[in-house]
Amino acid sequence: MQDIALKILKKITSRGFKAYVVGGFVRDSLLDIDSKDIDITTNATPKEIKEIFEESCLPCEDYGAVKVEKHGLQFEITTFRREIQYDDHRKPVEIKYIDDLYEDLLRRDFTINTICMDENGEIIDYLNGREDLENKLIRTVGKAKERFEEDSLRILRAVRFATILDFSLDQEIIDAILEVRSSVKNLSYYRKKMELEKIFTSPNYKNGIKLLLELGLDKELELQNLDKVLETDKIGLMGIWTIVNVQDKYPFNKNEMDMIRDINHVIGDNPFDEMVLYQYGLYVNSVAGEIQGYDIKDITEAYASLPIKSRKDIVMDAESIMEVLGISPGEYLKNIFEDIEREILYRRLENDKKAISEYVIQKYKKEVDYEKNI
Ligand code: ATP
Ligand code: MG
Repeated sequence: MQDIALKILKKITSRGFKAYVVGGFVRDSLLDIDSKDIDITTNATPKEIKEIFEESCLPCEDYGAVKVEKHGLQFEITTFRREIQYDDHRKPVEIKYIDDLYEDLLRRDFTINTICMDENGEIIDYLNGREDLENKLIRTVGKAKERFEEDSLRILRAVRFATILDFSLDQEIIDAILEVRSSVKNLSYYRKKMELEKIFTSPNYKNGIKLLLELGLDKELELQNLDKVLETDKIGLMGIWTIVNVQDKYPFNKNEMDMIRDINHVIGDNPFDEMVLYQYGLYVNSVAGEIQGYDIKDITEAYASLPIKSRKDIVMDAESIMEVLGISPGEYLKNIFEDIEREILYRRLENDKKAISEYVIQKYKKEVDYEKNI
């Protein structure tokens, strides 16, 4: 991966420009972590970059950035810049392209994100990011309070990096967040969801949640019951989203909404009920059970011992039922099938051809014959 990145750098520098890998890729590779996307910073303008990479450029909405895809890897190439005056605690009002790497690094958020790699794989570390990386410390470039006031997304990014890297927040960052935290309210719900998702899916998510609570960010982010998440285990992202109850505010897609609704439904019901286990499946029942404080082992066992897991497991299909009753397809067949399903699940009827045939004849034969005759 690094080889391809260095090749991209060489392609830019061979045209007389400066170019460096920066940000997540360098940070993560020094920590021996794989990263997916590679950020490159250069003094070439987006127009010049587009000329160099032509057909490999992807459409990109970010002003001043070009996305390039090579060998299945994505590179985000941005031009050295100074950001002038911020609007709404988020967007710079004006961006000025510059020629100096050092100055470009000064606009970046944290020291660990300013470490660069040149085209020979050499590390360039003007702001001592490596030292902070070794000390597992998140420190802002410049004064924390000012940097957070410029862009409140950095507050969430600080918590995100502390969580996923298992680093500490510099005391200056903690003090600044406590002071200016209310500005995260102004971020879009989409942004907030993206950052929270990265925190909640980290193996270290419990520490991330503790940080959010200690810093009082749960209130600013409108997350409810966040402390309850700490009492649960293995509930996954959707389990956490269900507990914090933000589905009316944050943007969830249909699958996510369905999952949250299902988990809430099972919480309101009983995860040991055969029909609930059968209808909602093991995953939803386990998450709901864990949230309610049940032992997952018991739920897994209850699920495993269900007489049937799906309709396909019923030994008689619709056709053979029709044959037994001498009927043709119709709405009532569906009701008969649902009845059989329920009886088998609650163990009042054996999943056996003879037993089912006898049951339907006894219960429905008269009725269908009567219907046929009128
Ligand atoms: P990852 O890609 O692993 O999420 P990253 O550090 O690469 O982490 P990106 O969002 O890809 O983060 O941004 C690339 C770089 O751009 C960062 O490392 C940082 O130097 C800079 N950066 C990104 N967002 C901001 C911001 N809000 N304020 C200042 N600098 C930022
Ligand atoms: Mg990145």
